[in-house]
Amino acid sequence: MLHTSKPVVISTVAQFQALRATLQGSVGFVPTMGALHAGHAALLKQSRAENVHSVLSIFVNPTQFGPKEDLSKYPRTFERDLEIAASEGVGFVFAPTNEEIYPDGYSTFVEENTVSAPLCGPFRPGHFRGVTTVVLKLFNTVQPAHAYFGMKDAQQFFVLQKMCRDLNLSVQLTGVPTVREGDGLALSSRNVYLSAEQREKAPLLYKTLCATRDAILQNSSTTSHIEILAKSKQALESADFQVQYLDHLSVPTLQAITQPNQPAIIAVAAYLGTTRLIDNVILN
Ligand code: AMP
Repeated sequence: MLHTSKPVVISTVAQFQALRATLQGSVGFVPTMGALHAGHAALLKQSRAENVHSVLSIFVNPTQFGPKEDLSKYPRTFERDLEIAASEGVGFVFAPTNEEIYPDGYSTFVEENTVSAPLCGPFRPGHFRGVTTVVLKLFNTVQPAHAYFGMKDAQQFFVLQKMCRDLNLSVQLTGVPTVREGDGLALSSRNVYLSAEQREKAPLLYKTLCATRDAILQNSSTTSHIEILAKSKQALESADFQVQYLDHLSVPTLQAITQPNQPAIIAVAAYLGTTRLIDNVILN
């Protein structure tokens, strides 16, 4: 179905369920926290290409933010988001309030415990529990055939895939390649926090990931991989990045690499000033 006009905006679960019961044909779903950019648009484009209906959700999910994280200052650009949704052919926007998703006395959470453990796991305790909980609730409301996630948040994608497998959900997840600025910086709603000087340095994150990948692909020994990762981390730190992790793990399980040439990810999280950036490259 082609929608050139503004999407229908629904803010309660009950209203969405009533609407859902009237929809025939496959529903593609793109969950977001709003502040949409060309990365989100890529997910919406793929949903539109592969489904009869596309649903976008906009919900800044409080349970995935830590107590010291940026929930209250997270960018909110609802009217502009609706324009982007309209131009990407989204028919329906589900934009619930906090109270709608977590009413008084809410007490049920979903936890994945293996794929969530490495990378961001130790640095953002409770983050993936918040993500899996809200995504399952959104899946139950929207009942999509397909859901689209960005590979910029690769760990999130693999955690959600594991949740779907473990809980026998029938929704098919698609990981959409990261959309980048011309200089390589991955688009992120948080890039607006970067000062002009930090914005100039930020592309070094992706450059370093690519150089690390190339060096790892040219060296098969695990010892040399450890050295390569250490040198790359040092290069970022010399350029004022405070690196939380720079790791090379298998995909989709995010375990230590055991064989050469196995499908893998090199993932990084680093602060530039007070802004936390993440990025990754996939190998093999
Ligand atoms: P967010 O609301 O920004 O947390 O993310 C909503 C969805 O958009 C997630 O599936 C993200 O992985 C995806 N996304 C965010 N940035 C990008 C990007 N630069 N390229 C592709 N997908 C992205």
